[in-house]
Amino acid sequence: MCANQFKMLGLSTPLLQACEALGYSQPTPVQTQAIPLVLAGEDVMAEAQTGSGKTAAFALPALDAFAHTKGSKSTVLIVTPTRELALQIAEVCQTVAKYTHHRVVVAVGGVSDKPQKAQIKRGVDVLIATPGRLLDLLSQKAVSLANVGLLVLDEADRMLDMGFWPDVRTIMAATPSTRQTLLFSATLEDATFDIDEVFARQPQKVSVSPQTRTTDQVEQFKLSLPQDVKPPFLQAFLKEHAGERIIVFARTKNRVDTIFRRLGRAQIAVDRLHADRSQNQRQRALEQFATGKVNVLVATDVLSRGIDVQDVDWVINYDLPRQAQDYVHRIGRAGRASATGSSLTLVTPDQEQEFRSFERYLGAPLQELALPFFDMDEATSKAQARAARAQDRRDPELQQAKKEFSAKAKRKQHAKEQAREEKRPHAKKKSSSRKPKQLIRGKQSRNAQGSRPNKTSASRGTKRGQSNRARHVQ
Ligand code: AMP
Repeated sequence: MCANQFKMLGLSTPLLQACEALGYSQPTPVQTQAIPLVLAGEDVMAEAQTGSGKTAAFALPALDAFAHTKGSKSTVLIVTPTRELALQIAEVCQTVAKYTHHRVVVAVGGVSDKPQKAQIKRGVDVLIATPGRLLDLLSQKAVSLANVGLLVLDEADRMLDMGFWPDVRTIMAATPSTRQTLLFSATLEDATFDIDEVFARQPQKVSVSPQTRTTDQVEQFKLSLPQDVKPPFLQAFLKEHAGERIIVFARTKNRVDTIFRRLGRAQIAVDRLHADRSQNQRQRALEQFATGKVNVLVATDVLSRGIDVQDVDWVINYDLPRQAQDYVHRIGRAGRASATGSSLTLVTPDQEQEFRSFERYLGAPLQELALPFFDMDEATSKAQARAARAQDRRDPELQQAKKEFSAKAKRKQHAKEQAREEKRPHAKKKSSSRKPKQLIRGKQSRNAQGSRPNKTSASRGTKRGQSNRARHVQ
């Protein structure tokens, strides 16, 4: 069944075997449209949503069209914005390469370039790279792009957003102008590509349901709540949905770290992903999440397009994304391929207006999440009380007034106690004939021969000192 559907697109036997190995039973719409065009040698400009199967849409026909032959001249170059995406693409290509024998090399930053250079030196058929590392290798003359027969620009809109386009230009200039070019982008209408700059000839356009901006498989909710209620709400939500696989998106690295620590303290198994984490830490986090060792992953937008994990139940936008396109990418993490998922966006009162512009972009208002497991009123008043206490702690005038008040209260209490003591005649006598005075009198009487006594030890010391001095003089 698998073979038939993919075979009709023109893929050869080793690629059909690779499809089986990848577990693809039938092509996705973008694969159905793009594969025959790529096999026919056309340039392609494709608008494909995240999770649509676009990686295989370029990787399968690319490796089929540019077969590995000993000493082969033409290579395939795939440029993608993030390390995670590069590794995902590599996974598909390496599975295919088991049947086609391509030499697949990944060149990404964040790790030593030595092994990458060594691999390139040994020979490469398919090079998957991030722009920065590829430029680095180019400038060191560790790689030549003179034999690139097919160039894939993956997530081109993202590369544009992330400011990689000047690097992409340099990379394009290092490849032959006769190359075949494929450009894949989640959105085409908002991205401004200079078509003449990218393509030497008119590209064929591929577009998968351009009206639907988000995957239909994701049920989308929003929740209006004050900023201070987000932490207790998230904990309650994660406890309610324990065992489900959840990605939590936050705006900054610091916020990811804070959420991660808070959830850790609440005994929730969680890991985190952001640009300051090392490559190994990022890989480990993805693996732990993929294998179910942790069910909650907190991440920034840098990775909103780089996480390919199957069966994510919920994507939570703990913070609003910066732009509507990022929203689409974030929620695309849920409901990937054939699995369904849900998303929840937390919206604070001051963000309502901004969020409405997102809803206009998405084409429909989102439904408010029902909260049988969370008392919003109680959480709000608790958060308000907490905020008021924190505010008090920060106000120096209030702090000074508090100090003065407590000092006054102490003085008052002390005065009261003294007055009470004085009113008790028996207690007064007792206190006036206290032992210390008797003791002093006792000492005085014991040393009565001499002058008024010093401390016993001190007087002993003086005597000893005198006798020492006397010895010394002798
Ligand atoms: P992508 O859009 O390339 O990030 O792919 C999203 C997910 O869909 C990946 O996990 C792929 O393994 C999966 N996928 C791609 N093509 C197919 C297919 N034909 N059948 C089932 N799953 C697929």
